Amino acid sequence: MLVSIPQYISRSHCGYCDDSEKDDFYALESQLHSHPFEKKSVIIGSVAQFTCQEYDELMNIGYRRSGDFIYKSDLLKTCCRLYTIRTCLSMCKLTKEHRKVINRFIKEICPDLPPAKKNTFDLERLYEAQIQSTRFRTKFEPAGYSDEKFALYKKYQVTIHNDDPEDVSETSFERFLCHTPFPEKEVKGDSDQFDGLKLESWTENNKLRIGPTHECYYLDDKLIAISVIDFLPSGVSSVYFIWDPDYAYLSLGTLSGLKELQMCDKLGYDWYYLGLYVEDCPKMRYKQKFGGEILDLCNEVYFPFDKVNPFLANGRLFVAGAKGETYDKEFELESNGYPIDYKDSIFNDRELINIAEDIYGNDKVLMEAQVVRKILQEDFNIPELDSQISLPVQVPGIIPLWQILDWFLTGVLDDNFTVKVLLRGRPMKLALGDMTGEARSIVINFIRVFGLERTSEMLIRFQ
Ligand SMILES: [Zn+2]
Repeated sequence: MLVSIPQYISRSHCGYCDDSEKDDFYALESQLHSHPFEKKSVIIGSVAQFTCQEYDELMNIGYRRSGDFIYKSDLLKTCCRLYTIRTCLSMCKLTKEHRKVINRFIKEICPDLPPAKKNTFDLERLYEAQIQSTRFRTKFEPAGYSDEKFALYKKYQVTIHNDDPEDVSETSFERFLCHTPFPEKEVKGDSDQFDGLKLESWTENNKLRIGPTHECYYLDDKLIAISVIDFLPSGVSSVYFIWDPDYAYLSLGTLSGLKELQMCDKLGYDWYYLGLYVEDCPKMRYKQKFGGEILDLCNEVYFPFDKVNPFLANGRLFVAGAKGETYDKEFELESNGYPIDYKDSIFNDRELINIAEDIYGNDKVLMEAQVVRKILQEDFNIPELDSQISLPVQVPGIIPLWQILDWFLTGVLDDNFTVKVLLRGRPMKLALGDMTGEARSIVINFIRVFGLERTSEMLIRFQ
């Protein structure tokens, strides 16, 4: 994994709430009274190259990729709380709307398909209709450019997202939906992997595809939609979906979600990742209709929606706590960088409360973090960095400063800690003790956002 220095980026434009009339985008109720309002999107991001396995792990600590840029938001400072969301077929309760979309689609592509038993709904018919249809087919292929795909992309962006046609270029399409951080071998895949994705072989024991993929939808041999997906070891991640506005009546966005859920189920991928969930953004709410779980980054636990839904209201930050449990009121939660399922967590079957305010609305916790920063600066030569790459003392869901200090004090981290860095195009090993103060601070930032183990394994690009 080759990773550039994490940047701390704050932008006044936010794609999620841009059109929103709402002016209450605070993480905490207490911020509402103490800060002047300033709506902005705040992220930590790096340019990186990594394998699907590595991306899988990053995604499960809150990252998403856009091309080869990976980012996660600062849940305390950003206007919209972006939560990682995942689901699977058994967690998805098909709604009336889902059934309508499926029935309409089946009628379009395979009107002769025998009807379901009276008053029942059978998702299996969606699969059958695709097999039998003479009008509709999809093709899985490596994420690459073609003029046909670009034309559809442009039509979609201009019509649905009101992009200026001048701005929608071949280059932007390639950068956004073709360019990936994955190794060539995974991008290309092999014929066995793509054969395994053919509908007819879904029921067999297949070699699974791992890699970035375009699923192209054709109706009467015309390209009408493209689903951009990453096949990863723990599941299938939906990146983007483009559809031809002339076929709006088919609700292809919703349909593709259901189709992919069914595919995950049949092929044996555990999870379907729908990207980031923004409770506040009406455009994103459809994601919750697929059911599933959302990631509490601070506890590193996936919670079923119905357990934490009340805490998500108004787009506030939630950090789950178990009622009756006492929490150390001076510290942020410890982090290890590997989330677990709700059922395996201490929260299983406990009554939950939201402790976000106790931690991030608590002056003591903030002061403690500031004191720790000073100690790291003075005793361990970890100076402040310039604003572009400097991380705040508190960011929910990254390793807290007190934990870093604790590692220094207990010898988990010391001057012998070694990282691989890319210098003048060559990888070399460098110990913390041999670095300048600035480089040491940068390495500490890598550790805070990616974890100790990942940092020691990755290749760091300083420029
Ligand atoms: Zn926003």
